[in-house]
Amino acid sequence: MIPEQQARNLLEEHGINSLPVNPIALAETLDVSVQVHDYGSAFEGMLVVNADSILLGINSRVQNQHRKKFTCAHELGHLTMDIGVDGGTFQCAGKDMESYSKKVDVVEVRANRFAAELLLPKFLIETSVKDNELSWKSIKDLAASGDVSLTAAAKKFIEHTDEACALVVSENKMIKWFQASPNFLFKMDTDGRVLSDASKANGMFANGRAMSDFEEVSALTWISSGSAKRDDKILEWSLPLDSYGRVLTLLWDDQGIAEENIEKEMDGDSDNSFDPKYGWETPTFHRSKRKR
Ligand SMILES: [Zn+2]
Repeated sequence: MIPEQQARNLLEEHGINSLPVNPIALAETLDVSVQVHDYGSAFEGMLVVNADSILLGINSRVQNQHRKKFTCAHELGHLTMDIGVDGGTFQCAGKDMESYSKKVDVVEVRANRFAAELLLPKFLIETSVKDNELSWKSIKDLAASGDVSLTAAAKKFIEHTDEACALVVSENKMIKWFQASPNFLFKMDTDGRVLSDASKANGMFANGRAMSDFEEVSALTWISSGSAKRDDKILEWSLPLDSYGRVLTLLWDDQGIAEENIEKEMDGDSDNSFDPKYGWETPTFHRSKRKR
């Protein structure tokens, strides 16, 4: 069973059907002792399960309230999915909770997916996400109703929206990670990529002006040239630098240009302006044609 389903089942078993979800209260109903304590710098959250007790520790050095909640939800993920009959112990560092990438241990990624769903479960947010327009205002409203961080709300919004959009998180003018919605068909090379000078996000690191809506930029500002053409446009809405030193960006292919490009390519109607060094991944029959 996927971790999201495990989280939804836990909520359902305890009759939780409104936001915000309080994971600490939920832990207590599971007979878990929750302790907020200064554990030093080795880990942010821990779980110790033995024959007659369950201890869930949250490091008091974690200042941010949303982060504390997420840490608690993450440990509940281990309790639900990773503890066998003999009990067990988990000590989870900050980096375990930040990343959903392949570089992080699969058990930690699973606990993060569980935690994200526990705090903003599909059955409580999907309808409102689909009914609300894509904007930072909608995402801020979602964050407020779930009492979660803006990043957590943005991830879930992107997961459920029908719009072709993506969330990009940048740090030190580098793309740290991005998440695309199911309908976002552009491809992005993100590994260690430096932000283009032409992006609004780049300007935010130099105290750029606040944006109150999407603005059009060349798609190639963000999208790899294997999947966007010279004249393609995309909408960007970046927020000013946050207290973690990050810039959050929404990208929106509101015209469905990526899909058009793929269709044209399949029809053999390409104007050959794709940069061949990136190759073109779909469709395969076209790639084989190109090799000749
Ligand atoms: Zn963990």
